[in-house]
Amino acid sequence: KLSFDAFVRHWAAERPDHIVLEQGDEAINFSDFEERSRKIIAMLASHGVGKGDRIAWLGKNSRHYFELFYSAARVGVVMVPIGWRLAAPEIAYILGDTAAKLLFLGEGFEEMAEKACGQMDSPPEVLTTPAGLSEIDASPAAEFAAAGPDDAVLQLYTSGTTGNPKGAVLTNRNLFSLRVPSKEEGQPWSFFDEGEAILVCMPCAHIGGTGLGIMAMGAGIRAIVQEEFTPDGVLDAFEQGITRLFIVPAALQMVVQHPRAKTTDMSAVKYVMYGAAPIPLDLLREAVRTIPEAGFMQCYGMTETTGTIAALPPEDHSLEGNQRMKSAGKAVPGAELKVIGEDGEELPRGEVGELICKSPSNMAGYWNLPDATQSSLKDGWMHTGDAAYMDEDGYVFIQDRIKDMIISGGENVYPAQVESAIYGHPAIAEVAVIGVPDETWGEAVKACIVAKPGEEVDEASIIEWTRERLAGFKVPKSIDVIDVMPRNASGKILRKDLRAPYWEGRE
Ligand code: ATP
Ligand code: MG
Repeated sequence: KLSFDAFVRHWAAERPDHIVLEQGDEAINFSDFEERSRKIIAMLASHGVGKGDRIAWLGKNSRHYFELFYSAARVGVVMVPIGWRLAAPEIAYILGDTAAKLLFLGEGFEEMAEKACGQMDSPPEVLTTPAGLSEIDASPAAEFAAAGPDDAVLQLYTSGTTGNPKGAVLTNRNLFSLRVPSKEEGQPWSFFDEGEAILVCMPCAHIGGTGLGIMAMGAGIRAIVQEEFTPDGVLDAFEQGITRLFIVPAALQMVVQHPRAKTTDMSAVKYVMYGAAPIPLDLLREAVRTIPEAGFMQCYGMTETTGTIAALPPEDHSLEGNQRMKSAGKAVPGAELKVIGEDGEELPRGEVGELICKSPSNMAGYWNLPDATQSSLKDGWMHTGDAAYMDEDGYVFIQDRIKDMIISGGENVYPAQVESAIYGHPAIAEVAVIGVPDETWGEAVKACIVAKPGEEVDEASIIEWTRERLAGFKVPKSIDVIDVMPRNASGKILRKDLRAPYWEGRE
């Protein structure tokens, strides 16, 4: 079963009365969804949209988005979810780049769509939802030719942390090959019980949001959709009995430090999946202590690999001085990982190089970017751009992005390690480490810090704190206190924005 169509048919037959999508007090079961999805396919066809065409979604998370995506994917219409925090020119760029035929809008995005489309030569036809979706009720359910495993179904843009976002084209096979392993090859955390419910609270324009919807469809369980992440929303979902969720470290921090975290019943949660950015060890420990009932699972992956390719399972999250907790985990079944040196040679265990991955979940390629595709996908191996080493047991330790590595006095410094050390300082809410130009050292380590409310950040005390924990060359030479940490919609720190003013006119 390697296509949306196969999964939709399978679960509609096996679990007709189970809920597939739920948002607030609206819900739809698999059987009704199967019927409705054939109407959606007919509606798309009536707009001249078929296999290989692109449609876009601009809006917050919505069950309507997932209905559209699941349905379009059955016939190989490619969904392009657009980040709702983007500005009009960025939206216009993606719409133009993909040549989307239809643009579906979530509630409240009419004005933004008008602005973006106004900047285009041939804008897409715009349909509001759910109003536009009400056309569906008038459409008869259609017969159709189902898309196969190698048809593209989703085009997701990378988060734009290191440069311009790139459109990764993902096929049915990419989406489902690693999602639901069989009992024989799977690991215990791969299996889903019938009654499970998964929370989708990360943005649907990213793999951490849309990917959970895909996982739910593969497993035949309920996806509970929340418009956007809020710590209260997650705590409510715990009380509602969700069994799995995925959140980024910045969001996990807000949840575990929320006053309600101490009183919320979290007993239903089986797995808390976290990842997409490095997590400070102290935060991870705090999270494990706050939600002791849950199995924690770190997920490492990228848009280009359809999300998770390495995972750190719950049993490696013990609080007793476990070095494994610093690892992003081992390759998931079906994926292969290697660490290579500058000439492409595989490095011995323990040595830091670039992490590469061979996996059936590797994207088909970047949309309209043949050069970038060629340089990152070589012989089927996706070059992650992340520096990492692997231990004897195959556990991967992500150091940081190669692009963000600081070379100070000839020594390599990975910002994530320095951030993790500084993070434990009591006055600090958030920290990002960057390299700035330095006459003596080439680059010098600088920490940009957001203080906890009511706390003063004292430069000397931070430097002293770090010196006690890290080698001298990794200790920041200077500190900037900032009000707000620049982050993108996936919650990732934009170090490039912090770096920019220091490097203007250089490099
Ligand atoms: P862009 O490619 O546009 O610069 P991006 O790389 O942030 O943006 P994504 O595909 O969303 O876009 O993120 C993938 C990257 O996120 C990985 O290459 C890695 O750097 C980081 N990442 C993902 N999971 C983890 C993790 N568990 N620990 C540390 N870093 C992670
Ligand atoms: Mg990337």
